[in-house]
Amino acid sequence: MSVLYERLAIVGLGLIGGSVGLAAHKRCLVGEIVGYSRSETSRQGAVAAGAVDQVSDDLLAAVRGADLVYVSAPVCAIAGILEQIAPAVSIGCAVTDAGSVKGQICRDGARFLPASFIGGHPMAGSEKSGIQASSADLFVDRSYILTPQEADEELLSRLLEFVRALGARPLLATPEEHDHLVALASHLPHLWAAALSLGLSRSDEPRALADFSGAGLRDSTRIAASSPELWKDIFLSNQAQVLQACTRAEQALADLRQALQSDDVAALVGLLAQAKQFRDHLTAAGGGRDMPCPGVRVAIDGPAGAGKSSVARDVAHELGYTIIDTGAMYRAVAYFAKGKGLAPGLNDDEIGRLAGQLNYEFRTVESERHLFVDGQDVESVVRLPEVGRLSSPVSAIPLVRHNLVIAQRQMAAGGGIVMEGRDIGTVVLPDAEVKIFLTASPQERARRRYRQLRDMGLEVTYEDILHEQNVRDQRDSSRAVAPLRRADDALEICSDDLTAAQVVAQIVQIVRERQHA
Ligand code: C5P
Repeated sequence: MSVLYERLAIVGLGLIGGSVGLAAHKRCLVGEIVGYSRSETSRQGAVAAGAVDQVSDDLLAAVRGADLVYVSAPVCAIAGILEQIAPAVSIGCAVTDAGSVKGQICRDGARFLPASFIGGHPMAGSEKSGIQASSADLFVDRSYILTPQEADEELLSRLLEFVRALGARPLLATPEEHDHLVALASHLPHLWAAALSLGLSRSDEPRALADFSGAGLRDSTRIAASSPELWKDIFLSNQAQVLQACTRAEQALADLRQALQSDDVAALVGLLAQAKQFRDHLTAAGGGRDMPCPGVRVAIDGPAGAGKSSVARDVAHELGYTIIDTGAMYRAVAYFAKGKGLAPGLNDDEIGRLAGQLNYEFRTVESERHLFVDGQDVESVVRLPEVGRLSSPVSAIPLVRHNLVIAQRQMAAGGGIVMEGRDIGTVVLPDAEVKIFLTASPQERARRRYRQLRDMGLEVTYEDILHEQNVRDQRDSSRAVAPLRRADDALEICSDDLTAAQVVAQIVQIVRERQHA
């Protein structure tokens, strides 16, 4: 990874600031790091931890000459810091923050630093705080929300690259969307855990509860151990949204209580089932971070029509892993390039840059994984035949591959994934723990594609599909960059005479053996 910033200034050296420094150092993302904190202990701690190269107790001196300023101070202090540093921020320097409420901070950022400020919020907090709790891998596989407004596009695309390089999954949102969603996804859980803890602390036997409790009580009150000082600021800064979120939780509790009080078994089971369904979704989407075996990465490569997509999906489902369909990402680049009037062969540089600017994310929609690009669900448009045709020449552009491989490696960083494509075992994850090369004869593959497209209501002929597939195979396996080929250490499975379920069972067994190896 090349250096993205020459000088990173971190303002505030706690858990997040320290972790940004450690992560940037570990991944060689910056030239030098200067840290600022008012506290002598934090400054010393940051140097001792290796999170910064030098420290300063002079805010403006720390910021001067930086090309990235990262403000990781308490929410209420951020606006004041932005106002103070504005005169010392050079042109071409990006300023971002890690505050967990964005509305007011972004309004202030736009006022003091209109071209440079990009609001940010890594979803990587912890009940622990302080520089001593910081970690170089704090952001790995975490969502990282950016709320750019007027900021320069170049600054935004470099910051997106930096966030991905930290190991996080960047998401773009408006400050308002952010505050609404985090009130539900982060602030309400904190308040709820605090309420549970508070309620139990008032019981007659708070000490006995410790002896009578198991993992359930510890799990559901874990975040109540967070800093009260920090959280009172967060709640108050997002007061209106948090109050609305409270209403939802109060209503849900009232519904449960009502069902219980009235002996309404059906209602009680129904409500508990709804709750379970949401929690299951959360885990499947990776939000629960409790996947069974996070270390294992499964690479499935092979030509189009070999059955990779459905096999990969079912393997992921069986293992509780996250699926990453890299073909959809190439298709998305083709789709957006077409929308901008860019054509492979004529505008390769622009298409390559475009691939690096788009923000890719797989989300669960009605139990299926959909690709979202810059927040837009593109799952169905990327499946159109004309997009498929265009994706092959687009995927042969070296800069497109370079940029997508970076994004794909970030997505795989936390493990517990099944990634399917053409070059996963050879280029994207050459050290994947399990590598499968799935094939089928050209005729069998064309037959399957034909049935699939007819089922979608499209008028196609078997002969056309076979012809197009041969052209595509030829191009994919003869292109100069990352041609389709089996990795030397991949297991080849020909699916001609196997049902999809048999292929899935075989792969799942290999993964399980690998997990226990
Ligand atoms: O698998 P799918 O047909 O959706 O892939 C679309 C296109 O993306 C293919 O034509 C293939 O050339 C390209 N691709 C690739 N490398 C990958 C995945 C797909 O070159 N890892």
